[in-house]
Amino acid sequence: MDTKKQYINGEWVLALSGKTREIINPFNQERIAIVAEGNEDDARLAIKAARHAFDHGDWAMTSATDRGNMIRKIAEFIERDKEELAELESLDTGKTVEESRGDMDDIAGVFRYYADLADKDGGEIIDSPIPNTISKVVKEPVGVCGQITPWNYPLLQASWKLAPALAAGNTLIMKPSEITPLTTVKVFELMEEAGIPKGVANLVLGAGATVGEELSINEDVDLISFTGGIETGKRIMRSASTNVKKLALELGGKNPNVIFADADLETAVDQALNAVFFHAGQICSAGTRIIVEESIHDTFVQKLVQRVKNIRLGSGFDKETQMGPLISKEHLQKVMKYVDNGVREGAQIAVGGAQPADSRLQDGFFYLPTVLTGCTTEMDVVQHEGFGPVITVETFKSEEEAVRLANDSIYGLAGGVWTKDIAKAERCVAKMRMGTVWINEFNVYFPHAPWGGFKQSGIGRELGRLGLEEYQESKHVFHNIDPQPIHWF
Ligand code: NAD
Repeated sequence: MDTKKQYINGEWVLALSGKTREIINPFNQERIAIVAEGNEDDARLAIKAARHAFDHGDWAMTSATDRGNMIRKIAEFIERDKEELAELESLDTGKTVEESRGDMDDIAGVFRYYADLADKDGGEIIDSPIPNTISKVVKEPVGVCGQITPWNYPLLQASWKLAPALAAGNTLIMKPSEITPLTTVKVFELMEEAGIPKGVANLVLGAGATVGEELSINEDVDLISFTGGIETGKRIMRSASTNVKKLALELGGKNPNVIFADADLETAVDQALNAVFFHAGQICSAGTRIIVEESIHDTFVQKLVQRVKNIRLGSGFDKETQMGPLISKEHLQKVMKYVDNGVREGAQIAVGGAQPADSRLQDGFFYLPTVLTGCTTEMDVVQHEGFGPVITVETFKSEEEAVRLANDSIYGLAGGVWTKDIAKAERCVAKMRMGTVWINEFNVYFPHAPWGGFKQSGIGRELGRLGLEEYQESKHVFHNIDPQPIHWF
């Protein structure tokens, strides 16, 4: 098995230390790849290359149209190699190939969106209050960007960072999650094929504590963009203070899905499943916190449990499979502990709450889709992100209480409201403190609209125009076309 290499300064290289890491299929624990295991030294080399390419290369001066054209090629190559990428993503994460195909369509869409946006905003002319002067604001790249991604949507999260950073004219060093680097390696091959110049986009593989920490702390990095857990985010924030880096953090969520008695119940139940059980609930925006009006609680839970029992677990490569395994043994243990704690706090298991007994699944990190009822806001299981296939159910009696419960969280990533009463829905969303709120929907996103969190779910936005602006500096240029002495001194 060939070792997958890092991409530094336009060369495919092994780790300086010679170390490697095995990548494991979470469905059966088979080794699917060996990858280079870089560390601080590899990260420093990549930072040096990115710094040089930014300060002395042509990239920042390349026309935005040319940059856009290269990014468009990446989108085309992703579409061309979609099946290979989708299968690789499923091997690495355990999610169904059908889901991965959807991811690849979204990823190509993200590259295409930023390719199109690259040359659309040339800046702004300000109406200067001073005669005979010109005042304009121009957009410039931030510089060298460190980008760190998680394991749940490896390439999707990478695309949200790579495409806007390149469109804006930055250079970058990406560090994918050490557990799921394979599709990111492949996309760097596609970026090379698309003609992204040497040193502009660098890939370092390895652990967070080494490569990630170096990217966060190194003073030659101007911006750090991170997607991952809240505790890692806080740590990166501290490290990034060394040189006051620009910071974008996409952190976790424990997202409320509020269901009023007047909602279309069949649709709300159906979508409550979609809100959580894709990729075994390992979704930052999963609607794991159901807050349902008390009068329909029993009916809702009964319908929900019935549907949850029918979810088919298995290999992501089996067409019948609806839900794959969790990412790793450690994560499975975390999810088991999370549910056990919930039960200790008084939650009742309505369905699931264990590993499946099915002998076909014994080698994988499977956990049954689970619904916990009798939950209240102060419970840990409601307050903390479990990041597994687990729904907690709370109840409310009034609109005011529904909003209060939905907001009672350190997180503010996303939430949903289900009701046929349009005015009520609008009143609720106006008060919900989250970066995305869906009405009679859950988990829809697209490249044109910004994504990010209120409160401890993060800082900054990805996607949309705001996602590009994260990678831009605004420079005010003031030009006096008729300079005169002032004679003040
Ligand atoms: P994680 O925080 O453990 O790891 C994320 C990345 O950070 C990995 O690449 C890891 O190697 C790196 N890292 C770890 N320690 C580091 C350090 N000290 N310095 C720098 N980098 C370090 O998160 P995870 O377990 O991979 O992902 C799950 C988390 O990601 C969940 O909390 C989920 O909600 C969040 N997430 C958020 C979004 C969003 O858009 N808000 C999207 C996807 C995932």
